[in-house]
Amino acid sequence: MTVRVRFAPSPTGQLHIGGARTALYCYLYARATGGSFILRIEDTDQERSKKEYEVAQIEDLKWFGLDYDEGPDKDGGFGPYRQSERREIYNKYAWELVENGKAYPCFLTQDELDELTAKAESEKIAPHTYHGKYKDLPADEAKKKIDAGEEYVIRFKNPGKKWTFKDLVRGEVTFPEDMVGDFVIIRSNGLPVYNFCCVIDDHLMKISHVIRAEDHLNNTVRQLMVYEAIGADVPEFAHCSLLVGEDRQKLSKRHGATSVTQYRNEHYLPQALINYLCLLGWSHPEEKDIFDINQLGEEFDLSRFSKSPALYDIKKLNYFNEQHLRALPVEEQVQWLEKGLSKGSKYYDQSDEWKKTFATLFIEKIQLVSEIEGKLPLVFSADVSGDEDYKETLGWETTPSIAKYLKEELGKITEGSPSIEKVTEWMNYLKKELKIKGKPLFMGTRVVLTGQNHGPDLKTLVSLTPVDVLLARCEKALV
Ligand code: GLU
Repeated sequence: MTVRVRFAPSPTGQLHIGGARTALYCYLYARATGGSFILRIEDTDQERSKKEYEVAQIEDLKWFGLDYDEGPDKDGGFGPYRQSERREIYNKYAWELVENGKAYPCFLTQDELDELTAKAESEKIAPHTYHGKYKDLPADEAKKKIDAGEEYVIRFKNPGKKWTFKDLVRGEVTFPEDMVGDFVIIRSNGLPVYNFCCVIDDHLMKISHVIRAEDHLNNTVRQLMVYEAIGADVPEFAHCSLLVGEDRQKLSKRHGATSVTQYRNEHYLPQALINYLCLLGWSHPEEKDIFDINQLGEEFDLSRFSKSPALYDIKKLNYFNEQHLRALPVEEQVQWLEKGLSKGSKYYDQSDEWKKTFATLFIEKIQLVSEIEGKLPLVFSADVSGDEDYKETLGWETTPSIAKYLKEELGKITEGSPSIEKVTEWMNYLKKELKIKGKPLFMGTRVVLTGQNHGPDLKTLVSLTPVDVLLARCEKALV
């Protein structure tokens, strides 16, 4: 069987991270099987669908590197790939169903529908029980009404039976006979509904596997009916567990950033976000957590999905970001860190070597690129922490001598920063000549030169710091 999987977003907003996860699973399965990954834009909701969202969602997919083989801008012979351009196809199928007695025009007005809903409610039965009023209206009478300009929808004639299918994640799923009634497939404005177009498209686009989130599980019953009615083969379904927040509720905006664009604007690494998303509902055969999704290959198979809801935890995502940042070659680390630095910073006056050392020193201290700006004062600011620890170290008997000596030595340097060797030389002098050792030496020197009690590797940090900044700190230590 040729595997063909599709990602079918509705362009009614930014790409949600749940949608990105679905796209990823579709992509990985297509890649693992040598199949095709198709992008279909489900824009039948004319009011909410916007071109700018379609553009933004495609950009986000590309940012992740989830390249599709077929889509609106990549014809693979199964287009068009935008539902708004396929209306005639849906109409043709809908009217064929009407001709075959599997669907029918329904002339219930909104008032009538409201009345019937109220009646059903008072009888404690499902509202759809009464939706079939026109199901046996003879075709010629229906035609007369249509010709007279009466408003109508096309309803699918529910054959009234139990539906069962085997989901690749959830196992056997059975829908009760009365779960849905005669549902609308074409609205009164002539536009088709999702459950109908989705089936027509999946059938015509020869989709072999439908991989999507569990919130679409209940749609499957209507879709199974349409497959049967048009005489089409049913694809395999895999309904992946929902993403939930800490309160176990479906992930939504109130849980924090949920759109890919937000993470992109915050300079998360796409490889980190996609790696994290991959593990929300799927597990690596070797239980690995940090990996490159592009190296998954055949290891990505559909048997490793979990049935339980997947907890979306930003702290974990940040950990993944940290790990991926650290794994980058230093040149790329520099490029990423620069995304987090504001323009005009003194950082930009430094040499390439300096920037690499800076990246190597601080990459270990951050999880997110946005944290790097907060590290700049450690290098460029003469300010000192001034906190209790700082004062305590300054108060040690030996610290003023360290400050005095370093001030003199720094005064000999006219520009740039002292080298690591120079700092080593000074510390050796302090040890040998002034007999300052151990904690008083290391902490004392750190406090005098960096203005802080703690921080990254002292010698490297000093080698990045301009001499005037070091001198100013020394002076503050001597006050
Ligand atoms: N357009 C639907 C959505 O965005 C697609 C559902 C499906 O994959 O069948 O949720």
